[in-house]
Amino acid sequence: MAVVPGARSRYHRRSPPRLFDEFTGLRFQTLIRTACLFLAVAWLTVAGTARAAEPSPKQTQARPHPAQSLIDRAAAGVRSSPDDSFRDAQAALKLLADQPQVDLEIRARLLLCDHLSERDRAAAEAEVAKARALLPQATRRGLEAGVLGCEGTILETASDNARARELYEQAVAVATRTQDNEMLAAALFARGYLLGLQGQYATGLADLKRAEALYDDINMPDHSLTAMNGIAILYNRMGDYAQARHMYDQALKAQRDAGMYREQSVTLHNLGRAHENLHEWDAAQAAFQESYEISRQLSYLRGEAYALRGLAAVRNAKGDPRGALQVLDQASALQKQTPDARLDAQILLARGVALHRLRQLPASVAALEDALDVFRQADSLSELRATYGELAAVFSDMGNWREGYAQLLNAQETSERMFRNQVDQRFATLKVEFDTVSKEKENALLVRENNANQLALAQGQRARNLQRAVIFLTVILAVLLATLAWHHWRSTRRMRTLAMTDELTGVPNRRAVLSQLAPLLQQPNPPTCAMLIIDIDHFKSINDQHGHAEGDEALKAVASELREDVHEPAFIGRLGGEEFVVVLPGADFDKAYRLAERFRESVMGIDTHRWRMDRRITVSIGLTLSRPTGDTPSTMLQRADSALYDAKRAGRNCVKAQLPVLETDVPAPLKPAQVEYA
Ligand code: GH3
Ligand code: MG
Ligand code: MG
Repeated sequence: MAVVPGARSRYHRRSPPRLFDEFTGLRFQTLIRTACLFLAVAWLTVAGTARAAEPSPKQTQARPHPAQSLIDRAAAGVRSSPDDSFRDAQAALKLLADQPQVDLEIRARLLLCDHLSERDRAAAEAEVAKARALLPQATRRGLEAGVLGCEGTILETASDNARARELYEQAVAVATRTQDNEMLAAALFARGYLLGLQGQYATGLADLKRAEALYDDINMPDHSLTAMNGIAILYNRMGDYAQARHMYDQALKAQRDAGMYREQSVTLHNLGRAHENLHEWDAAQAAFQESYEISRQLSYLRGEAYALRGLAAVRNAKGDPRGALQVLDQASALQKQTPDARLDAQILLARGVALHRLRQLPASVAALEDALDVFRQADSLSELRATYGELAAVFSDMGNWREGYAQLLNAQETSERMFRNQVDQRFATLKVEFDTVSKEKENALLVRENNANQLALAQGQRARNLQRAVIFLTVILAVLLATLAWHHWRSTRRMRTLAMTDELTGVPNRRAVLSQLAPLLQQPNPPTCAMLIIDIDHFKSINDQHGHAEGDEALKAVASELREDVHEPAFIGRLGGEEFVVVLPGADFDKAYRLAERFRESVMGIDTHRWRMDRRITVSIGLTLSRPTGDTPSTMLQRADSALYDAKRAGRNCVKAQLPVLETDVPAPLKPAQVEYA
């Protein structure tokens, strides 16, 4: 039968295999999906890592202890309503008994101590002792400064200023070491106030100013106001009454706005003192009166007692010593309930003045001398000077000139000390102020430099993180691209193999064989190539008798049989239908013929019983050799096909050859165009 090159049987017109879908598409899509997922996870990881450095607010927020809010309110209330503050601290302690938390308990006890220090020394000492006992278990190390502070306050209230100051010094040191700004501000305030009392205005002022700034920094405006009040008291003591009055006015305004009642009563009293020193008696009276009323509303006995002392001083000045004495009796009664040695001495001074005005001279001397003891112990110069002056006048009125003169000298000496002190301290204050300003400038510069450094560090860190992220993603991308390239290369190779392979038999197809043969023939001196076309005889009848599936099996069996005898450099392919081709590069006629015979015999040897066939499979083979030059796969195929046709005609199951007619010297056996071997 004739073989037309390129013709295909219906079996070769089957739809082409869905190579892409089967081998590339599905895996490719899966790969892309996996890669996208991976990239998304990578981005999330990178973003997560970048943020991991910064703790989220939720992470840092622990559930607050129920006593916490009570203690915070108590701390704020110390300045506005002391009794409520006291109750809050007590309520917090009750909660802490059920659910202990050392730091909070210390804070609560310190609040109680602070409140009680002005009212009940023993109770205050008991609270601070309990707080001290808890210190070893405290996490907030700065609380020790709070304990030292309250111990100092108790001593200060008892006029033991020297020991009080020692404790304040320790408190400042502890708070500085532990970097506890709240405790440091409190300690500085206490020390600064006491230094002011002791006439060390410059250092006192520096402490108070630092305390005020710290309270501003940690956002405790009420406490900052109290510090400002302390500064005003100090100005008052330095003799700068006008400046003090100005500051009290300012503090008072802020305290009225903030509803800080206890602080208002204190500031009003201090304002009264400034007016008293400036001999502005009506203004002094108004201030003391309001202070008294607020203190009464708050049941703040100490405040009431101080205000009453002020009112008595105004009465003395206005020429009403009897009225003054009445008021002072009231003040004394209150003072006894809230022991305060300095206040007691001030009441005694006012009493001495009133008794002097009433000409009760010995009683006046007794009162003034009692006051002197306290003022001397406290080294309170302005009060000492006033007391000496008053005593000198009383002794003079008594005719005791010698004592009168001695007291006058004391008054003058105190006055001079005061004056010298004031001058010294004003210089010192100026220096402190100057130093503070330069220090603040220096600090501001340092802070700015620090901020810039931190910013640079943060930026550097961010850049490094970004760099890492980019490297990480680049690596992922490179791996991804490499995987894709490998996948592409593999599927291309697979597709190529499939395109060149016969699907049914697994041998190379017609295209593969011809494309392998063509370059061989195109060589400048091509080797002689033999070509065999092997066609199964009566194959159609196999199909017809046993069905196509069996026909396919027979085709596969023949292909595998042929393949066994084809070795390098020979190659085999399926031309189409039931035809195979074998090319033998470098083979001569005899060799090709022998192989053709072997093929024929081995095909005959295929066991056909498995398909219940009653006959053997036979093949007819057409053989040709290549021309020395100018041959092509197509011309070779034509000759081999022609030889095959001869074999069919000759009764099948035989080998026929059709050799090329050579234009030059044709060798004898090749002379006839057709050679037939039986
Ligand atoms: P001859 O001896 O002259 O070669 O006769 P023949 O029947 O072998 O040749 P013919 O060309 O008449 O029939 C070839 C048949 O081969 C026709 C077709 O049904 C069958 N055939 C071609 N390709 C396949 C295939 O892939 N599978 C099966 N089962 N049959 C095929
Ligand atoms: Mg055929
Ligand atoms: Mg056939």
